[in-house]
Amino acid sequence: MSRDPECLFCRIAEGQIPADLVAETERVVAFRDLAPVAPTHALVIPRDHYANAAELAAAEPETLAELVSVADRVAAADGLPGYRLVFNTGVAAQQSVFHVHLHVIGGRDVTWPPG
Ligand code: AMP
Repeated sequence: MSRDPECLFCRIAEGQIPADLVAETERVVAFRDLAPVAPTHALVIPRDHYANAAELAAAEPETLAELVSVADRVAAADGLPGYRLVFNTGVAAQQSVFHVHLHVIGGRDVTWPPG
C-alpha cells in the first residue's frame, strides 16, 4: 500500500480534503469532478497511489477492474443510458493529476472521435 502525502487525490481518498463522494469501497473512492464537462462527471480512484492506469494494472489488476465496476455503479445511480470512461495518461494526453483516475462522463450527447 502506498500513499503520497503531497498528492491531492491521496488526500481526498483519506478524507483530508473535502470532495463530493458518490461511492466508496475498501480499495476505491469515487467523487464528482470539481470542473464537470458533462451533467455526470465523476472520478474513480484507487486509495493507493499509482501515477497512471498502466502502473495500477501492473501492481493491482483487481483494483483496476474495480474502478470500472464502481464507474458502472455511479453511472447507474445517475440513471445514465450510456457513459464514457477515460484515463488521460501523460501530459501529452492532458493528464494533470498524477494519481490514476477514471473519468465517468455522461448525461449529454458525446461525439466521436473525442477531442
Ligand atoms: P486529468 O486532467 O485527467 O488529470 O483530470 C484531473 C481532473 O481532476 C480534472 O477534471 C479536474 O477538474 C479534477 N479535479 C482537480 N482537483 C479536484 C478536486 N479537488 N476535486 C474534484 N476534482 C478535481
